[in-house]
Amino acid sequence: MAQERALRRVVIVGGGTAGWMTASALARAFSGPAGLTLPITLVESDAIATVGVGEATIPPIRQFNATVGLDEAEFVRATKATAKLGVDFHDWSGPGSNYFHGFGDYGPMVRGQAWRQYLFRLHAEGRIETMEPWSLPTILFRQNRFAPPVADPRSVLSSYSYAYQFDAGLFARRLRVLAEGLGVVRREGRIVDCPRDPESGLITGVTLDDGSLIEGDLFIDCSGFRGLLIEGVMQAGYEDWTRWLPCDRAVALTYPLSGPPEPCTRATARKAGWQWRIPLQHRIGGGYVYSSAFTSDQEALDDLLGMVGPPLTDPNPLRFTTGRRREAWKGNVVSIGLSSGFIEPLESTSINLIQSGIGRLLELFPDRDFDPALVAAYNKGSAQEYERVRDFIVLHYHLAGRTDGELWRQCRETAPPDSLAEKIELFKARGEIRLLENESFREDSWAAVFTGLGVWPRRATPLVEVPGLDEVAHQAERLRDLIARAAASVPAHSSFFPDRPQAAATSRTRAP
Ligand SMILES: Cc1cc2nc3c(=O)[nH]c(=O)nc-3n(C[C@H](O)[C@H](O)[C@H](O)COP(=O)(O)OP(=O)(O)OC[C@H]3O[C@@H](n4cnc5c(N)ncnc54)[C@H](O)[C@@H]3O)c2cc1C
Repeated sequence: MAQERALRRVVIVGGGTAGWMTASALARAFSGPAGLTLPITLVESDAIATVGVGEATIPPIRQFNATVGLDEAEFVRATKATAKLGVDFHDWSGPGSNYFHGFGDYGPMVRGQAWRQYLFRLHAEGRIETMEPWSLPTILFRQNRFAPPVADPRSVLSSYSYAYQFDAGLFARRLRVLAEGLGVVRREGRIVDCPRDPESGLITGVTLDDGSLIEGDLFIDCSGFRGLLIEGVMQAGYEDWTRWLPCDRAVALTYPLSGPPEPCTRATARKAGWQWRIPLQHRIGGGYVYSSAFTSDQEALDDLLGMVGPPLTDPNPLRFTTGRRREAWKGNVVSIGLSSGFIEPLESTSINLIQSGIGRLLELFPDRDFDPALVAAYNKGSAQEYERVRDFIVLHYHLAGRTDGELWRQCRETAPPDSLAEKIELFKARGEIRLLENESFREDSWAAVFTGLGVWPRRATPLVEVPGLDEVAHQAERLRDLIARAAASVPAHSSFFPDRPQAAATSRTRAP
C-alpha cells in the first residue's frame, strides 16, 4: 500500500550549483543495482545564466563530496580548488585592524572547560591580547601552510577543519557528469508554464518553450533568485532582513594571482559594504558587496577596480534581498538554493544551506500524500537554520567598530534580532556561547568573531579560576609552543594542488 503512494518522478528546476548538487545527491540516494529507483529529470535553460559566483565554502562541503562519491584529489583538480582554513577579516574595527576566523578550536577541553574560557581569564587579567596563538588554522594560514588534519584525536594536528575555494561553474559541471552517470536526465529548455491540479493545487508538470510537458510528483525549485515555482506559482512569501543586513548588491569579477594562493577568503570592510577575495589555483575571484542606499553602482565598481587592478573578466553586477522564503516547502514544491533565500556571502554559507536543505529533504522524503508533518518539520528546520546564519552574519556588522560611513552607524544602532541580542549579552557576561538548534557555526567560530571585533567577556566562568593564574599562564605558554611546533611541520599550501594549472596572469579574457 505504502509503495503505491511512492513518488513516481522528481523534477529539478534549474542547473546551477543548487540544481546539480540536488541532482547528484538524490541520484546517489536512489541508486539501485539496476539504476535509479526514482526517475529524476533536471530542467535548465542555457539562455538563463546561473549566478555562479559562489566560490568559497565551509567545512561540511567535504561531507557532501564524500556522500556523492567525489574523490578529493580529483575534485581539487577538476574545480581548480584551493583549501580554505577560514576567513581573514580586514578593517572591520577601523583601518588596519585584522582578525582571522579559523575553522578549528582554541585548544582542548581542560578540567571540563573549553580552553577558550581560560584564555578569556588570561585576557581579563591582562596577560594576553588575542587568542590567535591558540588557533592552529590561524597559524597555518599566516604561514601559507596547509595539509588535511590528521585523524588521531590525541594529536594537535587534528584540532582544525577546512573547506574549499573553487570554481562554482566547474563544480556544477563535475556534478552534472556524476548525476548523468547515475541516470539523471537533463532537459534543456525554458519553462514557460506550470500546470496545476485544479483540486489539490499541486503542480503536475512544467511546460517548456518548445511545448513539451515534463510531468512529475515532486518539484525541487532550484531556479535561483526568481523562485519560479515556489514564489511564481506557490506564492510562499519572503521575509526581508534588509534592516539588519542592508547590503543588497554586489559586483563580481576575476583577476590574476600575484603570488601563491592563500588558504583563506579575505573580507575587507569598505565604506558601504565589504570586498571579497577568493584565491583559486589559477586566478582570484573578487567582488564588492554593498548597500545601494549608501553608494552607487558606478562608485562601487570604481572602488573595486581601484583595489584589484585590471580584471580578467567583465564585472558581473548582482542584486539581492537578504532574507528567506516563508515556506521553503509548499505543496509539492521544495525550494533549494537561492530560491529558498539568501544571506549575503560574508561567511560563504549559501552552498552549505543548499547541502543542508538536501539533507533535510532526504530525511523527510515524502510520498504523494505530502504529509503536512513532513512539510512542517522541513520548514521549521529551514527557518531556524537561516535565522541562525543571519544572526551570525549580523554579529559581524553590529559589533564592527568602523565610524566612516552611514552603513556602519546604521548597523551598530539597529537593535539585533532578540536571539542574537541574548547571545551577545551572555557572551559579555561570562563568555558563554549558547548554541541553538540548527546552528551552522560552533562556539569557537562565535568566539573568533566576538574577540576579533574586540568584544571580550567581562569575566570568564569562575570554574576556570580554580587553578592559580600563573599555572594557567604557564599551561597556555606550553600549548602555544606545541601549536607553533606542529604548524612548522605542515607543508606549504601549494602541496595540496600538485597539478596547479598555469596562473591566468597573462591571458585576459572577456565574458561574452
Ligand atoms: C555576490 C554573491 C556572492 C556569493 N558568494 C558565495 C560564496 O562565496 N559561497 C557560497 O556558498 N555561496 C555564495 N553565493 C551564493 C551562490 O552563488 C548560490 O548559492 C549558488 O550559486 C546557487 O545558486 P542557485 O543554483 O540556487 O541559482 P542559479 O545559479 O541562479 O541557477 C538557477 C538555474 O535555474 C535555471 N532557470 C531559471 N529560470 C528558468 C526557467 N524559466 N526555465 C528553465 N530554467 C530556469 C537557470 O538556467 C539556472 O540553471 C554568492 C551569491 C552572490 C549573489
